[in-house]
Amino acid sequence: MHTVIFWFRKDLRLHDQRALDAALKLAPDRLLPVYVRPPADAVSPWVFPRSGPHRQAWQQSGVDALARQLAALGCPLIECVGDAPLRLMQIARAVGARTIVCEAHAAPEEVAEEARLRASLLEIGGELHTVWQTTLFDPAQLPWPATRLPSTFTAFRHGIEGAGVQPDAPRPEPKTLPPWPGQAHELPPEILAPRAFHPSDRDPRSSLPLGCAADSGADGAEAGGEAAAKAHLARYLARGLPHSYKATRDALTGVDFSSKCSPWFATGALSPRLFMAELRRFEAKSGTSEGSYWLWFEMLWRDYFRFLHCQYGQRLYRASGLASSSPPTHDAEAFARWCTGQTGNALVDAGMRELAATGFLSNRMRQIVASYLIHDLGGDWRAGAAWFESRLIDFDVYSNQGNWLYIAGRGTDPRGGRRFNPARQAEIHDADGSYRRQWGTLT
Ligand code: FAD
Repeated sequence: MHTVIFWFRKDLRLHDQRALDAALKLAPDRLLPVYVRPPADAVSPWVFPRSGPHRQAWQQSGVDALARQLAALGCPLIECVGDAPLRLMQIARAVGARTIVCEAHAAPEEVAEEARLRASLLEIGGELHTVWQTTLFDPAQLPWPATRLPSTFTAFRHGIEGAGVQPDAPRPEPKTLPPWPGQAHELPPEILAPRAFHPSDRDPRSSLPLGCAADSGADGAEAGGEAAAKAHLARYLARGLPHSYKATRDALTGVDFSSKCSPWFATGALSPRLFMAELRRFEAKSGTSEGSYWLWFEMLWRDYFRFLHCQYGQRLYRASGLASSSPPTHDAEAFARWCTGQTGNALVDAGMRELAATGFLSNRMRQIVASYLIHDLGGDWRAGAAWFESRLIDFDVYSNQGNWLYIAGRGTDPRGGRRFNPARQAEIHDADGSYRRQWGTLT
């Protein structure tokens, strides 16, 4: 009997699941899908929870949706809490499995996790198979090795567009899955997570940007899953919104000014290749526009920050980033005021309050508050990135690290950082003060 453990890491979906396809190609007689939730009380080096209540609730709704899909296929999801390599090895021993398959990652923590799991599996004569699926493009499709990217995003984009590279079509979801190994029914309770975990009894739809809740169906517990993701994308496209995207994308509030797909990219419920395939289908039907092109442009940023990790890895996490300038300073008291929306700057405070209350922030507000922490309060960009990790429902290690480094001028930005003047930004994007009034920072 050949048992394969499939480890659902970040991509909580069945469509376009290349790693799962690879697991099934290994021809297992028995399959055991496992998700390992990080402990809720994990604390960042900046001494606050790594995952706040909005993010935990959103993530769990994605897990719940996946669990229901897998149960319908007769191959239920095993849920555990704790250190993933440790839990997976406990399960492998308990069910006599020697093969684990999962998606590959290039961020340092994830790489270290894979290395530990691989080493532990070796000890029992087992093997870890990893499959890259987090980007639009396979590394082999790039016009350069993923470890020798062009030095700027613009050159990266021109290279991709010049070579005419397009993402592969998304793969369909499997119609059937092999059953569990018998021993899985007797896993000791200390390995399994308590079911029906909801950190705050919060309806995860309440964390969605205003208006998206309508897409997530009647069952709020599954708002983070792939059915809700597909419904949201279909609605966005059916309303022709890509055409207005370029003109509206810098708005501060509302649902239609940008795609709002990032919460589902973060749970992996939406594959970037499915997003692009649907966008191309939309363009074939209703024409291309500057707006629809710009969505592709932003998806290239998403890929760029991922591939940068293949090239630089841990260097992106140093205080000085890729720059040779001196490391940032940090003022803990100013940082605390920033986190709680009490800096005294009405626009920045409104953004920080929105983030705390909802778990979401527009791209423009992310830029403004990040710039304020780095360039006005003289704060450490790593603390800001950690706060975003804790609060954002769409937290994504690659996009978060990449954007923070970029604004700090410690990444590959040729302009050496981005400073946003909040007064000027308020004039342009909140001229009537409605955003600041909404968050109680302007009377
Ligand atoms: P849209 O504007 O509709 O764009 C479509 C998709 O393109 C997004 O869903 C996203 O996947 C991608 N995209 C858009 N802008 C960017 C960008 N600047 N960098 C990388 N990908 C992009 N995005 C996250 O998904 N997770 C994060 O943790 C995150 N942290 C950020 C931190 C800072 C300081 C900044 C300035 C930006 C951050 N972003 C992050 C990028 C961006 O703000 C969000 O992806 C975007 O606001 C999500 O809303 P949307 O889905 O409506 O995006």
